[in-house]
Amino acid sequence: MTRPPFEPASDLDIETVSNQLGRQARNVLGIAARCVCGAPTVVATAPRLGDGTPFPTMYYLSHPAATAAMSDLEAAQIMPELQQLVQTDEEVGAAYRAAHEQYLADRESIAVVDEIAGISAGGMPVRVKCLHALAAHSLAAGPGVNPIGDLALARGDWSPLVCECREYPVRAASAGH
Ligand SMILES: [Zn+2]
Repeated sequence: MTRPPFEPASDLDIETVSNQLGRQARNVLGIAARCVCGAPTVVATAPRLGDGTPFPTMYYLSHPAATAAMSDLEAAQIMPELQQLVQTDEEVGAAYRAAHEQYLADRESIAVVDEIAGISAGGMPVRVKCLHALAAHSLAAGPGVNPIGDLALARGDWSPLVCECREYPVRAASAGH
């Protein structure tokens, strides 16, 4: 795979992500998903940070409304239910393992970092540990790749198709309208 699985970030994207995170965004490789308004929702981060630290979570959920929705789901204890699904539903389990492989392939198309070889994010390939990371992967990859991220997005009260950027201290990137 030679194409980067996301588009490059503009200066405005970096500024918007920094506002979303409440700190200067660093090691940004690109923007992997956007709100319908154009603001970044998932930032793609380098597999090795500028200071040398290995960083497995290439797809990072940056939008505050999205992260709040995933935190709400985690607080509502839906992760044990999703964990059960991964373990008992063969189709979901197989898709989840395939999502893990795709995550690694995306990341290794950027750089192979030995310290995190075989480690993706969110608990993949067999655990459900972080809905933020799984939802970020689903948003980056599109529907039908990460079944647990897809379910989390479907259950959460946030959607990339309904802009909530103005309700958060986010300066939305121009979508050209
Ligand atoms: Zn928006």
